[in-house]
Amino acid sequence: EAKREGKNRYRVFDFGMSRTAHDRLRLENDLRRALERDEFRLHYQPVVRLGDGKVVGLEALLRWERPGRGITPPDRFVPLAEETGMIVEIGRRVLRMACSRAAEWRRICPSVAVSVNVSARQLRTPDFADEVERILHQARLEPCGLVLEVTESAAMDEPGEAAEVLRGLRELGVGLALDDFGTGYSSLSYLKRLPVSFLKIDRSFVEGLGGEADSGVLVGGVIALSRELGFEPVAEGVETPGQLERLLELGCELGQGYYFASPMPERAAEELLRSGARLGAGANLPGRRHG
Ligand code: C2E
Ligand code: MG
Ligand code: MG
Ligand code: MG
Repeated sequence: EAKREGKNRYRVFDFGMSRTAHDRLRLENDLRRALERDEFRLHYQPVVRLGDGKVVGLEALLRWERPGRGITPPDRFVPLAEETGMIVEIGRRVLRMACSRAAEWRRICPSVAVSVNVSARQLRTPDFADEVERILHQARLEPCGLVLEVTESAAMDEPGEAAEVLRGLRELGVGLALDDFGTGYSSLSYLKRLPVSFLKIDRSFVEGLGGEADSGVLVGGVIALSRELGFEPVAEGVETPGQLERLLELGCELGQGYYFASPMPERAAEELLRSGARLGAGANLPGRRHG
């Protein structure tokens, strides 16, 4: 009976303390072990020239691969890794892996660049630019072979400081992309001062293209703004031929999405580069195959 009471009490305790506290603690421990066991991998999603489907880049997307437990996507663990600061170590490994891959792949396809997502927390580590420089050097990767993606909200986090770090990175010669654009609250005057090369139009805008309530006016506005600021627009989440068609009409030249290819393991990405294949409808456009 005492045992039973204990059990009951535990249940009350469990609910009272909120299950999430336990889950978080467990996840945190699991993440630490994952670092020790080297369970983080990168998948790569092609970034293509929308006009002809040529692969111009590959975005590295983090996956946690646990033996017997399948693949865990980043949304399930990156937020906690950011909160605990573990993202700094995880991000360092991501950069190392992505840069050494990029160096190899540029031997197959010299113009290709690899993009890496960087958290606000990483940007705030002292000497982040120095670390990137060191990793580039170790990987023997030219800086222009790397693009760092920073979300609009990360770039706005301590705006002055973030801009300073971004300038340091830009001076190294790496490309910078403003990720998930349209989901944050950037002021125009601040955006203008960012040393960014690409602006990635968030998937939520692209989603509404070509359908009944076409969001073309909105997306057209973002594309115009991007060009006005000197950033090359990149459409995220292109899934349908209708969306592709609208993006081309609106003058967007780069994009990525399931319509072209999903993120794939590195072996498959390498094969894609070797084959020189065009993705999506571009593959069928007459006279554009080897352009
Ligand atoms: P993100 O950088 O905006 O990456 C794009 C996400 O959209 C990826 O999800 C990708 O798989 C997904 N996606 C691509 N094409 C389509 C499409 O056509 N339709 C739809 N519905 N989704 C598409 P994923 O791989 O789950 O990554 C989610 C987010 O996790 C990323 O968003 C990025 O913010 C973060 N993340 C990924 N890898 C890393 C990393 O190495 N470090 C950090 N700090 N964050 C990362
Ligand atoms: Mg990204
Ligand atoms: Mg994005
Ligand atoms: Mg995102």
